[in-house]
Amino acid sequence: MKPPAVSDVARDLVVNETFGPTFQGEGPSTGRYAHFIRLFGCHLSCAWCDTPQTHDPARYDLAAEQQVLSIDDILSWLASTPAELLVITGGEPLLQPRALERLLCTIRERALAADIEIETSGTIPPTDLLTSAVTRFNVSPKLAHSGLRRHQRVRPAVLRHFAGTGKAIWKFVVQETGDLDEVQELVGTYDLKPVWIMPEGTDSATVLARMRLLAEPVLARRWHLSTRLHTLLWENDRGH
Ligand code: SF4
Repeated sequence: MKPPAVSDVARDLVVNETFGPTFQGEGPSTGRYAHFIRLFGCHLSCAWCDTPQTHDPARYDLAAEQQVLSIDDILSWLASTPAELLVITGGEPLLQPRALERLLCTIRERALAADIEIETSGTIPPTDLLTSAVTRFNVSPKLAHSGLRRHQRVRPAVLRHFAGTGKAIWKFVVQETGDLDEVQELVGTYDLKPVWIMPEGTDSATVLARMRLLAEPVLARRWHLSTRLHTLLWENDRGH
């Protein structure tokens, strides 16, 4: 697949959308008051991707979905609406590491966010500066149901790198209980912890039904269960 044309000019970020305040909808910070920066571009193409507007030219006019924002633009936005938690998501945020370094280091210097999380597929290693700037990486390795080949979605050296940062949690998108064996294999092979299981789904009925199916098997494995709070509250509306 041809990767999206994402530039990595250190002064600018290619952004799909900024939004907030809202709630962090997934993982350990679920329910926290949060602001989001959704970066444009992804080198993967998961079958069930919930943000195809960041990279899929078959379904979206990508020229209309991207905007080049200067770091100063983003800092001004944050200064006008100080963030308790800033979530950098995508797409794949780590495709734009240099500009992201500059942004996050300045946010830290100016104390514009108490905590910063980066959501990533775990296929690109973070730089040392990014690692020092974030509170946490929410790393989401993809399973076979993503439709990706294993070598595309499981990068052993990158998984070990994230594990070594001491700042990673591992959030697996799961469709059915049988997927948990695949998670177990990855967790055991690469010593990934802590583990969060999150149902795949872009409507509240699907998310709730899958959470109910997954609850007992996840408890039995002593893992954590994440909802998708934004989906329960607002379905698939963008901007939440
Ligand atoms: S890694 Fe994330 S943004 Fe990229 S295709 Fe998969 S789900 Fe979508």
